[in-house]
Amino acid sequence: MGLQIYNTITKNKEVFQPLNPGHVGLYVCGPTVYGDAHLGHARPAVTFDVVYRYLTHLDYKVRYVRNITDVGHLVGDGDQGEDKIAKKARLEKLEPMEVVQHYTLGYHKNMQSLNTIAPSIEPRASGHIIEQIKMTQEILDAGFAYEVNGSVYFDVVKYNEQHAYGKLSGRKIEDLLSETRTLDGSSDKKNATDFALWKKAAPEHIMRWPSPWSDGFPGWHLECSAMSTKYLGKQFDIHGGGLDLLFPHHECEIAQSVAACNSEPAKYWMHNNMITINGQKMGKSLGNFITLDQLFSGEHKLLDQAYSPMTIRFFMLQAHYRSPLDFSNQALLAAEKGLERILGGLTTLDKIKASESSSVEIQEAIDGFFKAMNDDFNTPIALSHLFDLVKTINNLKASKATINQTDLDLLKNHLHVCIFDILGLKPSQTPTTQNSKEDEIMQILLELRKKAKENKDYETADLLRDRLLEIGIQIKDSREGTTWQKS
Ligand code: ZN
Repeated sequence: MGLQIYNTITKNKEVFQPLNPGHVGLYVCGPTVYGDAHLGHARPAVTFDVVYRYLTHLDYKVRYVRNITDVGHLVGDGDQGEDKIAKKARLEKLEPMEVVQHYTLGYHKNMQSLNTIAPSIEPRASGHIIEQIKMTQEILDAGFAYEVNGSVYFDVVKYNEQHAYGKLSGRKIEDLLSETRTLDGSSDKKNATDFALWKKAAPEHIMRWPSPWSDGFPGWHLECSAMSTKYLGKQFDIHGGGLDLLFPHHECEIAQSVAACNSEPAKYWMHNNMITINGQKMGKSLGNFITLDQLFSGEHKLLDQAYSPMTIRFFMLQAHYRSPLDFSNQALLAAEKGLERILGGLTTLDKIKASESSSVEIQEAIDGFFKAMNDDFNTPIALSHLFDLVKTINNLKASKATINQTDLDLLKNHLHVCIFDILGLKPSQTPTTQNSKEDEIMQILLELRKKAKENKDYETADLLRDRLLEIGIQIKDSREGTTWQKS
């Protein structure tokens, strides 16, 4: 049996069959770049990185598109209010694109730390205004949108007369209308369920472009439809994102594509579940909002220590992507231990010598790993098979079992493919777990720097730090001493 994917729109596990044999189009909703990347960004990134890696392992040629939202996403996720990026720019007295650049670079750095592979294309919404105006026009021409005072809205009620709005989320338009019956007096919309495709910019609104309707800006839902259509076509294979985007964002994407292109955009919809922190939803007002930089440095009141990016990645892999995941120091420490056991197993394996014959059975665990991955990317079960193999390795080391050369080679190859290529883990580069020549050289440099500081020769100390940073090595001073890591 080949790969099966749980499809959110049919609510079934389906055998994966791409639209074009051998090729996969994968679109994932990316971040709105107005703040530091946090746990909520890490989970979809890691989830779809594993999807991308596994599809690639299965020999598919994958075009992976993940957007950067740099305009149109309003505070409160609705149609009214300030643009999230413009608001940040106003508060920080920066150009909106300075905000975008700063947080995009930070996001990339964090995603690299988590060892996620960069997407094939990373389009920005502000770079695709023409495509968004065109799609708005197509929806207007099809009769599913209307213009009021320079803004264009999608007519959900009219759309629902011919197509089923709510297919993905299971929401009924009658319920939605009664829930949100009262439109406030300032709204131009016909129905509360309608959403903006194009908004006329208020005089104080900085990010604006000319359009046939007004100087304004595109709606948040529209950008993903315009960019996925541009790079993956009117129909593509997989659309992914966090469960928080399922409604209304993805529901609106479907409606826009059906209205403009007469076809549903994605064959398979995949959603990763959310992260809670000590059982609570993550939120700035709750004081449990943890950025990835804080996790990696340990600088947050809720954190007992720093956790390496690979610990965070491993922690996420220990849960199925469709299950909720609760963050706690205890769970992270357990993940740290689990990761050490797996990577330690690999190190031990390098020291195992082959015997004449094998008394171990390894094929079953290897098959188990792939069976689990084929079962909707079930990484926790896949990992349990890797733990079984580590047990086998430890038995070999303790001379409780023997392995012949063929099996030893098979085991080594498979473990490397499973751990590094598919799950995207990598050995930690902290001095405590790596004992290489590189470490020894670094220890000498850190000693020299310490000496320089003791002699109040700060110029030399800073020079050492800066030159190391130039080649991608970051030095961190703390009360416990100085550590280094590759940035
Ligand atoms: Zn999106």
